[in-house]
Amino acid sequence: MSSIHEYVNQLRIIDGHEHLATPQIRKKENQDFFSLMHYLDSDLVTAGMERGALGNKKSSDEERAATFLKYWERTNNTTYARMFGSAMQDLYGFNDWSVKGILDVNEKVKAATHDPDWYNEVLFKKSGIDLAFTLIQTTKLEYDLFRPIMFMDFTFRLRNRKDIHDVEQGAGMNAHTFQGYLDAVDALLHRYKQEGMVATKLGHAYWRSLASSKPTFHEAESVFNRLLGCTLAEGLSQLETVSLQDYLIHFIIQRSIAYELPIQIHTGHHETSVSSNGNLIPNSNAALLLPLLAEYEDAKFVLLHCGFPYHDAYLSMAKNYPNVYTDFTWTYIISPTAAKGILHQMIEMVPQTKIQGFGGDYNHVEGTYAHLKLARGIVADTLAEKIAEGAMKEKDAMRFADRIFRENLIELYQLDL
Ligand SMILES: [Zn+2]
Repeated sequence: MSSIHEYVNQLRIIDGHEHLATPQIRKKENQDFFSLMHYLDSDLVTAGMERGALGNKKSSDEERAATFLKYWERTNNTTYARMFGSAMQDLYGFNDWSVKGILDVNEKVKAATHDPDWYNEVLFKKSGIDLAFTLIQTTKLEYDLFRPIMFMDFTFRLRNRKDIHDVEQGAGMNAHTFQGYLDAVDALLHRYKQEGMVATKLGHAYWRSLASSKPTFHEAESVFNRLLGCTLAEGLSQLETVSLQDYLIHFIIQRSIAYELPIQIHTGHHETSVSSNGNLIPNSNAALLLPLLAEYEDAKFVLLHCGFPYHDAYLSMAKNYPNVYTDFTWTYIISPTAAKGILHQMIEMVPQTKIQGFGGDYNHVEGTYAHLKLARGIVADTLAEKIAEGAMKEKDAMRFADRIFRENLIELYQLDL
């Protein structure tokens, strides 16, 4: 092993994006082997399994294990599958891919769920993570290693009066006018910040285009007033409400700037458990964000997932816009080959203070462990190649790794460790 590999392997990590349940939630849900599918489940579904088949508590564990094995056989080439295998092997000593083997390891997973030290063991000790941001739509995380990021989509995905009502309830304010509604959204952001939120998140690429026009207050207000006149459930179409959404996206960016919060935005590839295999991938091309990036020079835009599969435009944008930060969340497990190619190009193009090297994007710590192990290997391999080419000195490669895995996140999110 080269010294750059050894160096990268021992680095302590700040993990910029996860969907990890708190230890308390995991315990309450009594999570088992079948709770650990996450991304793998999406590949099983793409390979023909019925969605939800493994979560169906009406089937016995034996039946679920047999279903799993049938589709595992079809998918075990993918990186999602490889991550599952590597987590099960390293953390549970599992390599018996039979119904009996699964039933045995299922008991071990349930025991881990109820082990009060499991998160510390996997995240802090085995993965080397000092802090992780998690998006589970609450700021009450009750775990030292976690900091919250909140999806703000629910404040601008307004289609009926119930959607407005949910925001009013969350903010503890009534919105009788559009200005009153903006005050409620602002109050929510302010409260989340007080409660420790380190960034806002916009996930709209999953349900509409990233492109936003610049409607006036009056245009947005007239849509809002029409919504107030609707019944609770029956409302307006996506097309009818788009100017209101666009106005609110601008508003959330403006208020994030005011509260010094970076803005994480989903760009590129969609996860099918969120989009139900019905997504329109061109909606998520990061280049659609250009008017917003140009307008808000004082914002900090963290564009997630390297924009894959639109990563070439993404790299050009990151090279030219001082307010754009790149982020490798999820990217290594979508395709290690693509991730390595993107990293090579990014080293050549993008200043190293603008690169966020890791976010596991998993909903269970086992996935985060396997993903980070893969990420360290890819980053070290890439840096070793850059050193061998003579493009980087070893000590500069080490500094680069410090930056992307730790220091950049501490600076960008103003973390107090
Ligand atoms: Zn995510």
